[in-house]
Amino acid sequence: EWILHKDEFIQEDELKISKEDRGYQFGDGIYEVIRVYNGNLYTAKEHIDRFYASAEKVKIVVPYTKDVFHKLMYDLVEKNEINNGQVYVQITRGSYVRQHQFPADSSPVVVGYTKTVERPVELMRNGARAKFIEDMRWLRCDIKSLNLLGNVLAKQEAYEDGCYEAVLHRGEIITEGSSSNMYGIKDGVLYTHPATNLILDGITRRTILGLCEEVGITVQETSMTKVQALKMDEFFMSSTTAEIIPLTELDGFKIGNGERGPLTEKLQQAFEAKLNLGVEV
Ligand code: PLP
Repeated sequence: EWILHKDEFIQEDELKISKEDRGYQFGDGIYEVIRVYNGNLYTAKEHIDRFYASAEKVKIVVPYTKDVFHKLMYDLVEKNEINNGQVYVQITRGSYVRQHQFPADSSPVVVGYTKTVERPVELMRNGARAKFIEDMRWLRCDIKSLNLLGNVLAKQEAYEDGCYEAVLHRGEIITEGSSSNMYGIKDGVLYTHPATNLILDGITRRTILGLCEEVGITVQETSMTKVQALKMDEFFMSSTTAEIIPLTELDGFKIGNGERGPLTEKLQQAFEAKLNLGVEV
């Protein structure tokens, strides 16, 4: 398997990361996950733009142009012969003697690798359970930061309670999932938290909002309270790897009739039609 290290392709056993890499010590870096369908990078431009935007927000300069970066991602997928899967790519501020302030001189370290991933068709059809968990993360959730401890702890708590995802909330307000965005549908209107500093503006989220317009679902980028969420007709989550997964049970309460709702299914079909894979979920 080939791995991208800075601007070179190497084998996994050749990869050397410094003990003082700031990603390793501080989570001082950002990342992206890009989906590969039929050997193509899906919504690559959006992911690459967000990679550069996240880097800029934490004052890391990506050492090549977006075009070069795009080609490196494409070459990685091709070299590893990935048909359906994903690329994970991160950039850290590099390594330096441990100190909190930025190093006087360090060069950023990019690492990218691929893996084959199946679409979670079973969950997409049958839905999953989720659990409310207090959102204890920082106030810059718009950055796709390597600091994921708040997300990790939330997901673990959900898993230990037999749930697939944590529905994060600040006080009464639902923000997003531990690794996904959240949506409720009530009387034909779709509600989701606005793209502020409190959530990651998911690329799948943007795709879904576009699809709503195409299929005639009214969108309100308005946050929901926990009480409102429990009264929704339908509830679902989205992410690059999960696509659209219905959440049929929240905190032990059934949403609607406890099955995938019709508008969720309609959005899944519209999403899939764009992928042009020739399979039905
Ligand atoms: N919110 C968080 C915290 C995430 O980690 C992710 C990504 O997995 C998302 C939302 C969904 O973003 P995207 O659709 O770009 O994968």
